Amino acid sequence: MNDLQRMLNDIEREVKLTRHLISKETLDDRVMAAIKQVPRPEFLPADYRFLAYENGPAPIGLGQTISQPYIVALMSDLLNTKASDTILEIGTGSGYQAAVLSNLVKQVYSLEIIAELSTKAARRLEKLGYNNVLVRTGDGHFGWPEQAPFDGIIVTAAAADIPQALIDQLHTGARLVIPVGLPYDYQELLVIKKMAAGKIESRKVLGVSFVPLTGGSARETKHSGDCQE
Ligand code: SAH
Repeated sequence: MNDLQRMLNDIEREVKLTRHLISKETLDDRVMAAIKQVPRPEFLPADYRFLAYENGPAPIGLGQTISQPYIVALMSDLLNTKASDTILEIGTGSGYQAAVLSNLVKQVYSLEIIAELSTKAARRLEKLGYNNVLVRTGDGHFGWPEQAPFDGIIVTAAAADIPQALIDQLHTGARLVIPVGLPYDYQELLVIKKMAAGKIESRKVLGVSFVPLTGGSARETKHSGDCQE
């Protein structure tokens, strides 16, 4: 069995092990096919490429990590994407999650707060032919208002609370998948659905551990007036 197939089997095994938490036995076939098509070694620094097909996170430099394949697959599944969707990702990192999403939807916008990472990820995605991904350096707390509303938003860093701008930038009925909790500790992966009149429905999926969502200091003042009732 090759390394890629072993990684896919490891994802499927972990899905089964966590089935009571995630309320599903298997992930969407479209998601598994999307994962299969992305060459994960290309998203890792040369020194860590030996970890490319392990079902674990790995360092990508500047204190950041590429997420565990099972978590990438699960979050992609929880977004419930359609081929016609436009999705916003917060936390481009290596660009791996964006590449997986690019196989699932029409257009991916991805924000990364560290300029060096966003530049590298944009170059890598272009080189690999992911033409429907646009990466920009910026603070995800404010979303990407020029491209909103989105059919789904995925946050791949741990937020202390739910940024209101991200709710504002979702279509009614669309989902936000986000880890919320203590930085450098434990967070709950939440699936938040935007309902009519700006109301939200939130579901806890399972405990996760992400690097922190940084920035956002001006969010209270900047967005206090945006909240619709
Ligand atoms: N999705 C990535 C892994 C995410 S690691 C991948 O597939 O490789 C989390 C990333 O979120 C880091 O690169 C970090 O710099 C970025 N980040 C942290 N706070 C952010 C913010 N406020 N806005 C945008 N990106 C942020």
